[in-house]
Amino acid sequence: MMSTMPWNRTPSRAEELAGTDDQLSLIPAWSVLLAIAVFAGVQYLFHGVMPHHKHEMLPMRLLMGYSWGTAFASYVLLVGYVSRDVKRRRMPAALWMLIVVLLPGGIGAVVYFILRQPILRQCPNCRTEIAASYHFCPQCQFQLAPVCGQCFRGVQITDVYCTQCGHDLAEDHAPARLRAYSD
Ligand SMILES: [Zn+2]
Ligand SMILES: [Zn+2]
Repeated sequence: MMSTMPWNRTPSRAEELAGTDDQLSLIPAWSVLLAIAVFAGVQYLFHGVMPHHKHEMLPMRLLMGYSWGTAFASYVLLVGYVSRDVKRRRMPAALWMLIVVLLPGGIGAVVYFILRQPILRQCPNCRTEIAASYHFCPQCQFQLAPVCGQCFRGVQITDVYCTQCGHDLAEDHAPARLRAYSD
């Protein structure tokens, strides 16, 4: 039962690989929908439920509804983000979700962002758990990111010359720059 809940879903490998740079893709659909519902709920609360006073200014009410709606909706999105981010860092998901949701005023989220571990992923070749910043697997030497063939610092796949040492990347035969993408 628990494993089928959206916040317990393990991201697929493609998602994990693609998601390392694109932070927005980490916000799951359920939290976007919930954020919209929360925003609408707050508007209803301010304009439909709370008593209207005679001399109250409408702009003030609109502004309050909008501010509180945005604040709560952002918080829901944040919780959604943490629910996925916590997985790719192999941190205890249930514990952190509890901390982020229960500590008031976003303190839980602040604690989370201070204490979170570096992103982990698996070596596609030998399945060793490795930090996302590695260029090569420490266990099997599999190339994980494009690197310069001379200084072995990271390069962009579209670079023609190394930004660190000026090496002509086209001179590298498949290994250095493109090995990770050639198969
Ligand atoms: Zn490996
Ligand atoms: Zn270089």
